[in-house]
Amino acid sequence: MSDNDARCGHASCRCTVPSGSEYCSDYCREAAATTPEEQTAYCDCGHEPCVQAKEASLMDATV
Ligand SMILES: [Zn+2]
Ligand SMILES: [Zn+2]
Repeated sequence: MSDNDARCGHASCRCTVPSGSEYCSDYCREAAATTPEEQTAYCDCGHEPCVQAKEASLMDATV
Protein backbone atom coordinates (compact mmCIF):
# COMPACT_ATOMS: atom_id res chain seq x y z
CA MET A 1 0.00 0.00 0.00
CA SER A 2 1.37 3.38 -0.95
CA ASP A 3 0.29 6.93 -0.42
CA ASN A 4 0.16 7.40 -4.16
CA ASP A 5 -2.78 5.05 -4.63
CA ALA A 6 -6.29 5.54 -3.27
CA ARG A 7 -9.30 3.26 -3.29
CA CYS A 8 -11.90 3.86 -5.95
CA GLY A 9 -14.82 5.90 -4.63
CA HIS A 10 -17.31 3.14 -5.43
CA ALA A 11 -17.82 1.14 -2.22
CA SER A 12 -17.92 -2.25 -3.94
CA CYS A 13 -14.94 -1.58 -6.18
CA ARG A 14 -11.58 -3.14 -5.40
CA CYS A 15 -9.56 -1.02 -7.77
CA THR A 16 -7.03 1.56 -6.77
CA VAL A 17 -6.93 4.88 -8.53
CA PRO A 18 -4.07 7.33 -9.00
CA SER A 19 -3.91 10.16 -6.54
CA GLY A 20 -6.21 12.94 -7.71
CA SER A 21 -8.70 10.54 -9.30
CA GLU A 22 -11.87 9.61 -7.49
CA TYR A 23 -13.10 6.65 -9.56
CA CYS A 24 -11.41 4.03 -11.72
CA SER A 25 -14.04 4.29 -14.43
CA ASP A 26 -17.22 6.00 -15.57
CA TYR A 27 -19.06 2.90 -14.37
CA CYS A 28 -17.96 3.54 -10.79
CA ARG A 29 -18.74 7.23 -11.01
CA GLU A 30 -22.32 6.42 -11.96
CA ALA A 31 -22.65 3.48 -9.55
CA ALA A 32 -21.49 5.60 -6.63
CA ALA A 33 -24.25 8.11 -7.41
CA THR A 34 -26.99 5.52 -6.96
CA THR A 35 -28.60 4.80 -3.60
CA PRO A 36 -27.07 2.06 -1.43
CA GLU A 37 -30.10 -0.16 -2.05
CA GLU A 38 -29.43 -0.04 -5.78
CA GLN A 39 -25.75 -0.85 -5.50
CA THR A 40 -24.69 -4.40 -6.15
CA ALA A 41 -22.46 -6.38 -3.81
CA TYR A 42 -19.82 -6.44 -6.51
CA CYS A 43 -18.44 -3.96 -8.97
CA ASP A 44 -18.98 -4.32 -12.72
CA CYS A 45 -16.29 -1.92 -13.91
CA GLY A 46 -14.57 -4.75 -15.77
CA HIS A 47 -11.15 -4.34 -14.18
CA GLU A 48 -9.32 -7.49 -13.11
CA PRO A 49 -9.75 -7.25 -9.29
CA CYS A 50 -13.49 -6.70 -9.66
CA VAL A 51 -13.99 -9.40 -12.29
CA GLN A 52 -12.34 -11.91 -9.96
CA ALA A 53 -14.39 -10.75 -6.97
CA LYS A 54 -17.59 -11.03 -8.98
CA GLU A 55 -16.77 -14.54 -10.19
CA ALA A 56 -15.94 -15.59 -6.64
CA SER A 57 -19.22 -14.25 -5.29
CA LEU A 58 -21.20 -15.91 -8.06
CA MET A 59 -19.53 -19.24 -7.31
CA ASP A 60 -20.42 -18.89 -3.64
CA ALA A 61 -24.03 -18.18 -4.55
CA THR A 62 -24.44 -21.41 -6.54
CA VAL A 63 -23.23 -23.75 -3.79
ZN1 LIG B 1 -14.36 -1.97 -9.90
ZN1 LIG C 1 -13.93 1.49 -9.47
